[in-house]
Amino acid sequence: MLADAQTASLRTAQTVVRLQAGPSAPQLLSLQAPGKDLWINNAAEDLITSAEVDGHPVPLQWKLLANAGHADAKRVSYIYETQNPHLRLTWEWNARAAIGPIEHRIRIENLDPHELWLPIQDSFRYSWSVPAKHPLRQIYIDKGAGKPTPVGTHQVEVSSDYTWEGKSSTYAPDRGPREIIPWFMVERDGTQGDGWYVGLEFSARTHLTLERARGLLQGSVGLNSKPGPFRTRLQPGDTFETPPVFVGAFTGGRDALGNVLRPWIRQVLNYSGTWKKPDYPMLVNNSWGSGMAVDEALAKRMIDDSADLGMEMFGLDAGWFRGVGDWYPDPKKFPNGLAPIADAAHRRGLKFGIWVDWAQAGTNSEPGALNVNDPKVRDWLVADTPPAWKPDEFVGRSTDIGLPAAKAHAQHELERMVTSYKLDMLEHDGYLVTRNCSRDDHPHAPPPAGSVTTVNGSGVAMPDTSNSTDVSYHAVHSYYEIYSHLRKEHPDLVFEICNDGGRMVDFGSASHGDYFSITDSYDPLSNRRAFYDASQVLPAAMLEDYVEKWPALRLENFRYMLRSGMMGWLTVMQDTNAWTPEQHAAAKEEFALYKEKLRPFIRDADLYHISLRPDGVHWDAIEYHDPRRGKALVYAFRGSDPEEKRHRFVLYGLDPHLQYRLHFQDGSSPDRAESGRDLGSKGLNVTLTYPNSSELIFIDEANEPQSLVK
Ligand SMILES: [Zn+2]
Repeated sequence: MLADAQTASLRTAQTVVRLQAGPSAPQLLSLQAPGKDLWINNAAEDLITSAEVDGHPVPLQWKLLANAGHADAKRVSYIYETQNPHLRLTWEWNARAAIGPIEHRIRIENLDPHELWLPIQDSFRYSWSVPAKHPLRQIYIDKGAGKPTPVGTHQVEVSSDYTWEGKSSTYAPDRGPREIIPWFMVERDGTQGDGWYVGLEFSARTHLTLERARGLLQGSVGLNSKPGPFRTRLQPGDTFETPPVFVGAFTGGRDALGNVLRPWIRQVLNYSGTWKKPDYPMLVNNSWGSGMAVDEALAKRMIDDSADLGMEMFGLDAGWFRGVGDWYPDPKKFPNGLAPIADAAHRRGLKFGIWVDWAQAGTNSEPGALNVNDPKVRDWLVADTPPAWKPDEFVGRSTDIGLPAAKAHAQHELERMVTSYKLDMLEHDGYLVTRNCSRDDHPHAPPPAGSVTTVNGSGVAMPDTSNSTDVSYHAVHSYYEIYSHLRKEHPDLVFEICNDGGRMVDFGSASHGDYFSITDSYDPLSNRRAFYDASQVLPAAMLEDYVEKWPALRLENFRYMLRSGMMGWLTVMQDTNAWTPEQHAAAKEEFALYKEKLRPFIRDADLYHISLRPDGVHWDAIEYHDPRRGKALVYAFRGSDPEEKRHRFVLYGLDPHLQYRLHFQDGSSPDRAESGRDLGSKGLNVTLTYPNSSELIFIDEANEPQSLVK
C-alpha cells in the first residue's frame, strides 16, 4: 500500500501540513507549527461510500488517479474516481498566503449521464494522537447575534472524556444553545501556548465537533448532518463542493494566533478593493435612531449634521420604502425619491447607503413588488403564508434565493436599486438567506413527508428538517453569487452584513461582504462585549458597532458611549441633531481623532485583549500595537463600580529595551515616559475620576536615547 502512496507538504510561516494520497483515500498526515511538536493525524479523509441512483444506494469505490494530481509550493490536489456511477473527487489544499492557515476543500463532480444524490461529505476529519494526560484547552467564540451572551469567548479545559459540538447557520437564533463563529482553537497547555485551529468559510448550516477519548483528539468539520439524512442532488456535469475550511497551527496563545489570522483574512478572504479605500472603516450616521419615522427632511438634516461632525457616510435604515418587498421610496416620506438624498449626501462629501431586506416578500401589489399573493412569487417562498398573513413594518416572508428565478429577481432588484438610488453602500438585514424550505420542486432536497408547509412570520421559526442543510447550501451559494456579481458591476460598492445584528458572522460572509453588524444590542457594554469576542478572529475594521442613545450625564459618559463603539467600525444610530452643543463638540473631536489616529491602528495594527471580557462593572481595555510604526494605543474603560478608580493593564508587543512616551488623550494623567519593560510587566496605570468613563492612551517609541528620557 505504502509503495504507491504519494506525499507532499505545504507551508506558511506558521503552518506546515503533510499530505498523502492513499490508494483509496487521501489523508492529512500531520499539522505542525515550525519547530513545535507534530499533531499526527490517524484518520484518512472520510470519503462518502455510497450515492443514490434511481432511488437506490450504490456503493462507491474510490481509486486514486495517480498521475492526475497536482503539487507545487502553493497547492496540492489529489484526484479520485469511482466508475459506476462515474464521479470525480478532488481533494485540495491551498497555501493562499505566506502567513496563516492552509485552506482545504473537496469537490465531487458528476461525470455520469444520470442525476444522482450524494450523502453528506464532511469538509475535514481529524484524529490527532494526544497523550491522555496532556492538558489541552479549547477556545471558541459565540456570535453576537441579538445580544452578546454572558461568556462569549469560551475557554474550556479539554478533559479526558470531552465532547463538544459548535453550530453555525445563516441566522443564529437567540434561544437555545448559541451559535458560534464557525471556528475553534485547541491550545496545548504550556509556556509556548501552541496548538492548532480550524474555521469554515461558509455561511450555511455547518458544525464543528471535538472529542477526546483514549489518547485521541478527534472530530469533523463541515455541513451539519443533523437532522438527517442529508442528501443533495447532483445533475450530470454538476459539482458539489464541501464548505472550504482553513486549518492552521500557532504559537504564543490566542492573541498571537489572532494577529496572524486577522491579516490572513484581510489578505485572502476580504475584498481588496474595499481595503484600498483610505476611509475604510468609515464613520457612519444611520437613521435607525428615529426608526421607521425617517423622511426626506430628517434625512437631509442628518446629512448636514453628519458632514458638520466630520462623518463619512449617511445610512438610510429601514423605513424609506413603500413596503417589504416593494423596494421603492415611500412617496409620502420621500416625494422626490432617493436620488436627491444621495445627491445631498454626495454634495456634502458623504457616502450614501441604504438598508434593504432584499430577499423578503410582502403584500404590496404595485408593479415591481415582491408580493406573496402573486402565484409566481408564492412558489419562491420558503413556506405558504396563512390566508390573512401580513408583513410587519420591516419584516416580510423570506424567499428561497436558492431557486434560480428568485435569485434572478433579487439580482435584478439590487442592480436597479444600486444604480437608481446612487448607492455607495448596501446593508442587508433580517432573515435573508434561508436555512429551511418546505418546497419539493426547488433545486434542494425535498422536505420529508408531513413537514410543515404553512407558517407565519418570516419563515425563520420553521422547524429544521432533513433537507434544511441542503436548502441552506443552495441559498448560500446564490447569496455569494449575487454579491460577487454586484461586486463585478460596482467595484466601489461597500457591503454591510447585518442579519438582525450578528447572526451570520462567519468567514464565508467575510469573503463576500466588507463589514459585519456584530450584535443587535447597542448599549456600550454589549458593543464592547461583541467586539471583544468577534475581534478574536476577525479583522477589527470589519466589526461594526451601532451606538444608540444612552443616558450620558457627563461628557465623560458620552465619550465612553462613543468609544465603546469606536474600536472597529463605528455607526452612530442617533439623531445627532438632538445632541447638546457640548456633546456635539466632543463628538466632532472624537471623529477627527478617529480618522487621524485611531483608524490606522484599526486597519493595520496587532490587537491584544489585555483585560478580561467586559462586564460593565470593572475595568476593561484593548490594546493595538503597530510594530511597523513603533506605536501602540490603549482603549481603557472604567466600569460602573464607584470604588475602582484605577487599574493596571499589562501591555503586549512592546520592546522591553525601549522607552515609550505616553499621551493620555483626555488628560486623565500627565504625559510621561515609561520603559517597555515596565509596561509589559508591571503594566500601564490608568486612573479615571468617574464611573462609566474612558481614556485613550497613545504610546510611542521615544526617539531619544534612553538616558535622556525620564
Ligand atoms: Zn426552497
